[in-house]
Amino acid sequence: MSESHNQTPEKRLLLGTSNRKKIVELEAHLKPRGFTLRTPSDFPDTIDVEETGATFMDNARLKAVAQATGRAMWAIGEDSGLCVPALGGLPGVISARFSGTGPSLQGATDQTNNAKLLEVMQAFGPNERDAYYVSTIALANPQGEILIESSGECWGRILSAPRGEGGFGYDPLFEVREYHRTFAELGLEVKRAISHRSRALRQFLRQLDALDVFHR
Ligand code: IMP
Repeated sequence: MSESHNQTPEKRLLLGTSNRKKIVELEAHLKPRGFTLRTPSDFPDTIDVEETGATFMDNARLKAVAQATGRAMWAIGEDSGLCVPALGGLPGVISARFSGTGPSLQGATDQTNNAKLLEVMQAFGPNERDAYYVSTIALANPQGEILIESSGECWGRILSAPRGEGGFGYDPLFEVREYHRTFAELGLEVKRAISHRSRALRQFLRQLDALDVFHR
C-alpha cells in the first residue's frame, strides 16, 4: 500500500483516546516499537465520538474511523469496560457511564460508578462475584478502513470494599485472584503484563507487525 502524499518516514499513529491512564498503557507497548504517537490533546480542536455501538468492538471501530478520517492519519480506537456475569454482563459497554442519569447517562464519575457497583453487588455472595475486563482495539487507515481488530480479557472478582490507590475506573474493586491484589494495588508493571488492554495490544501488535504498510 502506498501513501504518496505522506513523505514522512515516521511510523505515526494516533491514539483515539483522551484517557491518560489508557494512553500510558498503550504507549508502554507502542513506543518501544518505534511508533511516534499522537493523542487527541495534540490538536487544537476535538473530534467527539458517540459510543453508540452494541459491543466494545463496534465502539473501538467507531473511535478509530472517526479519528483516522478526521485527522487523515492511521488511528487506533480502543474501547473497554468491565463485565459482571451475575449482572448479565453489566456495566459492559456503559462502564464509563454506569451511574449516569438521563437518556445519555450523564454525570457519572469513577467514584459514582464504583459506588453503584458496590451497591448492586451487595445482593451477591462470594461465589457470584466473578468479573472480567475487556479491551478491544481497532486500527483504521486514513481512508477509514479497518485493518486490524483485536481483543483481550482479564478475569478477577469484585470486592465488597475498595482497596488501593493506583489505576483508574473500577480498579480498586477488581481483585486478580492469582495476586490477591486489586488492579489499584498492583503496579503498572504487573498491569502491563496481565491486563485486558495488554492482552489485546499484544494480539494487535502481532497483526501490526505483519502489515507491510509500516515497513516503508
Ligand atoms: P471507554 O473510555 O468507553 O473505553 O470506557 C472505559 C471504562 O471502562 C472506564 O471509564 C472504566 O470505567 C472502565 N475500564 C476500562 N478499562 C479499565 C481498566 O483498566 N481499569 C479500570 N476501569 C477500566
